Amino acid sequence: MKKVLIASFTAESNSWNPFNQKLEQFRLGYDEEVTDNVFCRELFEENDIEAIPTIYANGGAAGYIEKDAFLFIADKIIETAKKHKDELDGALMFLHGASHVVGLQEDAGELYILERLREILGYDLPIVITMDPHGNVTNRYTELANIIRCYRESPHWDREQSHRHVAKLFVDLLENPRESKPEYVRVPILVGGQRSVSADEPMASINKMLNETEEIKGILSASYHIGYSHADSALCGAGVIVVPETPEYQSLAAAKAKEIAVFVMKNKERFHFTGYALETDEAVKEAIETEKWPVFLTDAGDNATGGSYAYNTFLLKKFLEQDKLNNKKYLFASINHPEVCKELLENNEGDEVKFSLGMDIDDESTPVELEGTIYKKGILNTFYAFPQKIGETVTVKLKDLEVYVVIANHLTAFREFQQFEAAGLNYEDFDVIIVKQGYLYTEELEVAGRDIMALTPGMTYQNVEFLEFRHLVRPIYPHDKDMFDA
Ligand SMILES: [Zn+2]
Repeated sequence: MKKVLIASFTAESNSWNPFNQKLEQFRLGYDEEVTDNVFCRELFEENDIEAIPTIYANGGAAGYIEKDAFLFIADKIIETAKKHKDELDGALMFLHGASHVVGLQEDAGELYILERLREILGYDLPIVITMDPHGNVTNRYTELANIIRCYRESPHWDREQSHRHVAKLFVDLLENPRESKPEYVRVPILVGGQRSVSADEPMASINKMLNETEEIKGILSASYHIGYSHADSALCGAGVIVVPETPEYQSLAAAKAKEIAVFVMKNKERFHFTGYALETDEAVKEAIETEKWPVFLTDAGDNATGGSYAYNTFLLKKFLEQDKLNNKKYLFASINHPEVCKELLENNEGDEVKFSLGMDIDDESTPVELEGTIYKKGILNTFYAFPQKIGETVTVKLKDLEVYVVIANHLTAFREFQQFEAAGLNYEDFDVIIVKQGYLYTEELEVAGRDIMALTPGMTYQNVEFLEFRHLVRPIYPHDKDMFDA
C-alpha cells in the first residue's frame, strides 16, 4: 500500500490590513477533515493508497500571519513528513498560494513548507499541488513541485472538481513514475480578482485556451494564475504553468506556456471590473434609483474575502447622508465591531438602543452615531462547503429609516443565503443588500436584479495600480501602464 502525505493551507495576506493574523483566526482540522478538504478519500481507497493527514488550516483572507501561528501550522506538516519519511510515496497538498508571514525569510508560507519538505523527502518523491488562482507562483515555487494546477473558474465553482482532477493526476504519477517538471512563465500583470472573473474577457478566452491546451497530446495540465493583488511582495504577479505528460513533451509544454502568456499580454487591456463597477457616489445613486430588484451592492474596498477587516462605516455613512432613499429597504450585512456587538447582545429584540458604530482605526472606519431598535439577534456563520459558527450578529433597524444594519463580532462576507438565515434574516425582505465583497458569489449573483460593485476606499481598494508598492517586481501592468504602451 502506498502512503501519501496530505495537507491543506489557505491564507490570503493583505499588506494593507494593519492587524497580523493570529492562530485563533485559523480554522484548524485534523485527520478526516484534512482528507475531506483534499477531496481524495474515494480515489485513494480505490487505488489502495493510505493518506497520512497533517493539518487543514484555513485562515481565509486577513493581514500578514504572525510567525508563531504560521510555524505551528507548518511544523505539523513538516514533523509528520519527518516521522513518516521512510514510508512515504509522495505528497498531495492544497496550497492557496497568497500567504505572507511576518519575519519569514521566504516571505510566502507555501515556499517555506515546500523548501522544508524537499529537504526531508528529497526530489525523487512527487509533490503535487492544487492552488487557488489568486495565489502567486514563481520560478522557485515551480521548481519545488512536480505538478501544479489551480482552479480555473473565478468565482471558484470548480473548486471540488479541480481538487479531484489534480488528485487523479497525482495518482497516475504514483502508478506510472516518471520525471514531471512544470513549465512556468511569469506574466507581468496584477489586476486582482475583480478584474479577472471567468465569465468576462479576457479570462473567458484564456480559460478556453487552457482547456484546449489540456486536450493536446503530451500536455497533462495547464493553468493561469491570476496572482494576489494586495500584498506588497516581490512574489506577487500572474503566471502560466503547463505540465507535460512525460519529459519528451517538455519543450512542447514550455512553448504552450509561452503562447498562453503572450496571448494574455496581448489582451491585457481587456481586463476590466466585472459587472457594474462604479465609483462610490455613482454606486450609491444607482442603488437608490434603479427599478431593478433586488440590488446587491458590494463594498469592494472592504472586501472580507480579499483581506479586509469588514469594519468600514464609510458606505453606511454615504447612504445616511442621502436626502431620499426612494422608499426602499436597505440591509448592511455586516459591519464588524466586536465591542458594540457585545453591548448590543445584552438587549432583547425590540429594545431601543443608541450606540456609536465604527472601530475608528482609519479614515473609513470612523464612528457614526446610530439610534434604533434591535430587530434580530443571530449567529455569524462562515461561507463555503462547511458552514461554521464564527460569532454572533445583532441587526438593528435604524430609527425613522428603513435601514437595517447587521453588527457582527467577527469579519465575514455575507455571500451565502445560509448566512442570512443564521443571522435571522431573509434577503428577500430587503430591496438593497450591501455586502463586504468584491465580485458577487454565485447564489447572490443568480438572484440579483442589479449587482453593483462600489469602488470604495479601504484595505482592498480595487484600483490597485494607485496603491503604493515598494517590493513588487516592476514593471507590471497596470501599475506601470505607460511602460507597456511604449
Ligand atoms: Zn481565489
